[in-house]
Amino acid sequence: MLANRARIPEADMADTLALRGLHIRGLHHVTAIAGGAQANLSFYTGALGLRLVKRTVNFDAPDTYHFYFGDETGSPGSLLTFFPFENAAPGRIGTGMVASTAFSVPQSAFESWVARLADEGRDFDGPATRFGAQTLALTDPDGLRIELVSDPTAPTDPAAPTGPTAPAATHLPTHPPIQGLHSVTLCVEASERTARLLTETFGYEFAGAEEGRHRFRARGGGPAGLIDLLCQPDRMEGRMGAGSVHHVAFRARDEAEQRAWRDRILALGFDVTPVLDRQYFRSIYFREPGGVLFEIATDPPGFAIDEPPGSLGTALKLPPWLEARRAAIERRLPPLRPTAPPP
Ligand code: ZN
Repeated sequence: MLANRARIPEADMADTLALRGLHIRGLHHVTAIAGGAQANLSFYTGALGLRLVKRTVNFDAPDTYHFYFGDETGSPGSLLTFFPFENAAPGRIGTGMVASTAFSVPQSAFESWVARLADEGRDFDGPATRFGAQTLALTDPDGLRIELVSDPTAPTDPAAPTGPTAPAATHLPTHPPIQGLHSVTLCVEASERTARLLTETFGYEFAGAEEGRHRFRARGGGPAGLIDLLCQPDRMEGRMGAGSVHHVAFRARDEAEQRAWRDRILALGFDVTPVLDRQYFRSIYFREPGGVLFEIATDPPGFAIDEPPGSLGTALKLPPWLEARRAAIERRLPPLRPTAPPP
């Protein structure tokens, strides 16, 4: 399926990409659909020990929350976000969808994650070894597949808190650390055009194949820099719903770089949205050839733009254009129990 990839002249890639320095450095965030808001919040802050770094609403449907979970500051590359719809029908994983979302954990913490999940009586698959890394998989309350990967080759963000003395320890005292996103696995009917987008346009490099899984690594090998493609032509098409990923966002350094990406993706013939103001970053969206919705999001301004870093996620934050409707919005959102540190 990927055989043609080897025939792409390397000089073409250099002409179009490397000389301009435009390449994707890795994932910015992954956004998924959830069912009940409380169960979602409890799982990601409780079981996985992520920080709720922003509690806001879906800007396109403000009677729904938008939760952002991540590291202490919500660094790009650490973020998994959710739109929880209380009565959402379950989705179905299939082609044109993200099959799993993986977080990095340090090698020293992998065994304690296995022990912790076993102690809590949680179902999980593994541990197994994939591309030389220890991996375990579990599902969230809506069936979204999450993996924890201890990958000796995967760099983590040096700015991210990673140890018991890091700030995360102040609110997550009993959790082995999660170090941000490791990779996403895309399930596609045919992988070649997606692979070409990753290599020829995004600047990713083919990094190996194992059991039908083709791995691509962002140039420079930074954190959250891996994409796996599963080519499964016999599988049914996926259906969006609770427990499925809505889109995968990649990083742009700033708004100028995002404009360059928009021009480049338009020139390739994709439909791309205008730049949208997501308050904590700016976004453009387009559907990649395998059917997964891709976003390119700016690193700035980040989550401290409307509340202090120490109290991220504690209050419902609305963008200026929704603030006038706050009372009505708050009435329609489901109530939440305050999140407390685990015992
Ligand atoms: Zn997004």
